Amino acid sequence: MVSIKKVNTVIVGQGIAGSLLAFMLHRKKIPFLLIDPSVPQTASQIAAGMFTPLSGKRKTIHPLSLQQIPFAINIYKEISKLIGYNILHLTNIYQLFDSVEEQSQLQRKYLEPSFAPYIKSISNYLSGTNIYCGAYEVTHSGWVNCEYWMKFFKIWLKKNGRLLEAKFVHQNLQIKEDRMEYNGIEFENIFFCEGYKAINNPFFNEIIIPCKGDVLTIASEHFTTDQIVKKNGIYLVPIESYSFKAGATYQWNNDSETPDQAAKLLIEGQLKNMLTNPFEIINHQSAIRPTTQNREVIARQHQHHKGMYMFNGLGTKGVLQGPWWADRIVALSLQLDLE
Ligand SMILES: Cc1cc2nc3c(=O)[nH]c(=O)nc-3n(C[C@H](O)[C@H](O)[C@H](O)COP(=O)(O)OP(=O)(O)OC[C@H]3O[C@@H](n4cnc5c(N)ncnc54)[C@H](O)[C@@H]3O)c2cc1C
Repeated sequence: MVSIKKVNTVIVGQGIAGSLLAFMLHRKKIPFLLIDPSVPQTASQIAAGMFTPLSGKRKTIHPLSLQQIPFAINIYKEISKLIGYNILHLTNIYQLFDSVEEQSQLQRKYLEPSFAPYIKSISNYLSGTNIYCGAYEVTHSGWVNCEYWMKFFKIWLKKNGRLLEAKFVHQNLQIKEDRMEYNGIEFENIFFCEGYKAINNPFFNEIIIPCKGDVLTIASEHFTTDQIVKKNGIYLVPIESYSFKAGATYQWNNDSETPDQAAKLLIEGQLKNMLTNPFEIINHQSAIRPTTQNREVIARQHQHHKGMYMFNGLGTKGVLQGPWWADRIVALSLQLDLE
């Protein structure tokens, strides 16, 4: 039971965005309350949680990503300590070439000094994978166990009386000159972190493009590795020995939450092409990513209500860019200077 009547900040939504904001506020000892209905299978609960400096088909490296990676790693270490469970796994990505063109594209990249620290050629191939054109490794990468992060962070929130398990009803928010009120709770700041459901938020007109993603959990008795393996846009993330998350698909402007049979067949087909051994599909999940037109994160203060913010649009890279932006928007709300 939550008995809070007055708090500095209310956060709406406990996905990656809301959880990171809550953690940043906790770090700064700012009292907050998080409101979330505990719906299963949100994007944050099923995400594979990967992060890497290389982006997209063209394999570009954005300078901001290089600043965000070490920042995110420190935050995930701190969160692991707080919840008593290690969510951070630092590992290179074992990337199989899909074609000779991809191979020569990367060979050119090797010559660029800005790329050299992030890619590594390999001579020992991973047994159990189909090597048609060779492989390379991407360094400074890893994955965060989002399922357990969301689960254990919720337990921590509950234990500390910081979670109200309910859907936030926007119509019940009363905005006064110097504070806000919601169902008897008084506060100065509110952060909306509703993922793709922000399309229904009446206070902000941000354009959120829902992007459905399907992901499988597979088990293979004959294949094990602690590296992430990628080929042709499909990845395998080792969640346990002999068990992996495999995905994901991207269906833009699709907000159906039902797992998609065609997506399952697509991932399954790519896996057969990637692995030499048989595997069993033990789970199939789907959820909706909140993406934006120019892949820009929404970390914004409301035009008129100065205590009101939106943190959203983490898109396909919530794990990598979330901590950095959460730190910035919290600093903005507390009027702190950033380095
Ligand atoms: C299949 C798949 C694989 C992915 N893999 C990766 C990956 O490898 N690496 C990576 O970085 N990212 C990945 N992502 C993307 C990542 O999941 C998203 O960037 C991230 O989860 C977005 O977090 P969020 O908190 O904004 O949204 P969400 O996870 O959608 O969370 C929003 C929360 O708000 C709550 N909410 C909504 N409305 C209300 C309301 N009215 N009242 C109270 N609560 C409300 C919801 O119930 C939910 O708990 C993947 C996504 C998918 C679908």
